[in-house]
Amino acid sequence: MPFPSAQTPVGAIIEAVLAGHNGTRAREAGVLRRLAHPGILRRDLCGRRNVPVKLKMNIFFDVDYTLVGGMDGSLRPGVREVFQRLKKDGHHIYVWSGVGPRWHEVRRHQLESLVIDCFTKPITDYYQQMKAMNLPVEPDLVVDDFPQVAQALGGISVAPYTFENANDREMERVYQTISSYAQNGHSDDHRFAPKLQK
Ligand SMILES: [Mg+2]
Repeated sequence: MPFPSAQTPVGAIIEAVLAGHNGTRAREAGVLRRLAHPGILRRDLCGRRNVPVKLKMNIFFDVDYTLVGGMDGSLRPGVREVFQRLKKDGHHIYVWSGVGPRWHEVRRHQLESLVIDCFTKPITDYYQQMKAMNLPVEPDLVVDDFPQVAQALGGISVAPYTFENANDREMERVYQTISSYAQNGHSDDHRFAPKLQK
């Protein structure tokens, strides 16, 4: 049987697997876009439905009121554990903030081995400005206390974390939502909006 061409859906998937999630060839083939939209991909797969497609995503986390208390800088419960689980699942974790790269906070909370890079986050016109920034990678999913960011770029909005609160469980929800989306292509979380195809 001939090796499927990269132009066919099955060939594109094989191409993506061979090239790796961040591979240039996969990018050029537009495969990442397809991988980010498993609904399309799953329909393409020989007409079968519900074929599980496990996504490996670039996940961008906001800092203030998302990862750390906006008023006291304390680390939100579960951040380190969820980062560890996401990394183990094959996702790439980035941190960005409207006030600039936040390596200081990342190091202060001993997250540097889990975070690939830090960037500046757009504060208006999120999608257009994100594009204009020419980042080395683009977010597949964002996590932010500002619902507009998640809606514009695709992602999960979280309740603002202000002060240290040992009872906060938002990070566990974030992990469950990402896992569900990565494994099944959908999530029931009403505070999650998948990335739009643009
Ligand atoms: Mg914030």
